[in-house]
Amino acid sequence: MPGFLLPELPITSFADYRSRGGGLGLQRALEIGRSATVLEMRSSGLRGRGGGGFPTGIKWAGLADDPAADRYVVANGAEGEPGTFKDRWLMRSNPYQLVEGLLIAAFATSAVGAYIALKRSFEVEAEAIKRAISEMSSEGLLGELPVGVVEGPDDYLFGEEKAMLEVIEGNDPLPRLYPPYVQGLFETPNESHPAAVNNVETLSNVPHIMREGAEWFRSFGTNQSPGTMVFTISGDVQRESVVELEMGTSLSFLIYGVGEGLPAGRSVKAVISGVSNAPLPSRFLDLPMSFEAMKAAGSGLGAGGFIVYDDTACMVRVGAALSRFLNRESCGQCPPCKLGTGEIAARLEELGSGAAGRDADLEELRGWILRVTDANRCGLGAGQQALANGIVTEFGKDLEHHTLGPDSEERPACTDHRTYVVPAFTDFDEAAGAFTT
Ligand code: SF4
Repeated sequence: MPGFLLPELPITSFADYRSRGGGLGLQRALEIGRSATVLEMRSSGLRGRGGGGFPTGIKWAGLADDPAADRYVVANGAEGEPGTFKDRWLMRSNPYQLVEGLLIAAFATSAVGAYIALKRSFEVEAEAIKRAISEMSSEGLLGELPVGVVEGPDDYLFGEEKAMLEVIEGNDPLPRLYPPYVQGLFETPNESHPAAVNNVETLSNVPHIMREGAEWFRSFGTNQSPGTMVFTISGDVQRESVVELEMGTSLSFLIYGVGEGLPAGRSVKAVISGVSNAPLPSRFLDLPMSFEAMKAAGSGLGAGGFIVYDDTACMVRVGAALSRFLNRESCGQCPPCKLGTGEIAARLEELGSGAAGRDADLEELRGWILRVTDANRCGLGAGQQALANGIVTEFGKDLEHHTLGPDSEERPACTDHRTYVVPAFTDFDEAAGAFTT
């Protein structure tokens, strides 16, 4: 376990960070120049750790090559995906590597300004980030670059990159039509100011790659998913945790090696990364946690926040709770998303109630799964589609409990009476191995 992103104990001063090689990544970038820095990132194969998995070097190259005079870089620290606590843990453990990564990104792309955006409620993280910026500014590392900290709302959509740019401009978190490389920050009718938005964990990798080199980074993980990733494990495991592992480590190691497995007598029913991917049934437990393997299995790696449900869980009821969350957080700019997430949540709630389940509910559910992504500005509808489709295709037994009708003798009993809470974490007690919701 390399653990270069997460130190054993939090780094609380720039002097401590420097004693561990902090600052050398920026120094090397300045020495080799902008183009070579972008090339090093492309060679490293680093992919975005916020959920999309887009290659960081390609994103930077696009911004660096843009003819616009004013360009911006943004660190996305809003971490809104349920089941995830890794960006907050990274900012608490080592805010300096994030700031250094952002400075390298700004240098490589000739940015005129940089922002770190995080939720107003992330008070501990904001304090750590502001301390790091202040100390690194005193050491002269920021040069003339203005680095702002933007504290935004708790909305799920604040973490969506187009909505984040709106918040930085002082508006509500409503996703725009155009991506950051087209409509960035503070553009005027005559000038576009494109931006690159990178996740906190993505940028935290950057100083290490610049200091140690792309080949060193590629010595960890898989060919298509190099490096390590900070995973979150929660739900029906014995110990919840945040842990840095090589990409490609098996899901079962995260559940049994880190999460200490399930209580005696229980087994895994399903695992889902966040709330916007298809839940995976237990036959996928040996799956490597990489972008390519999760995609091939019909799901996604997301932000690496895996929620475990044991064999007593009814995935229809789980899906209802997660879909209702997505419906609440949908902003309503795209009717198929707002209507579709609401209808999917309602159909799953009806099916999961055990009283009203009929084949017609299932047909309506399938119809809305197809339509929920129509004309969407952001990925929320696609996340809902993946979640609900995964439940319908992989958890037919759970649907059977509810679709034959309450009077049918063939209808098996659903014994799940749990109330499912969306795992939106507010804190983590490492000693106890438990998140607070
Ligand atoms: Fe809002 Fe949904 Fe449209 Fe995204 S897809 S902008 S959440 S209505």
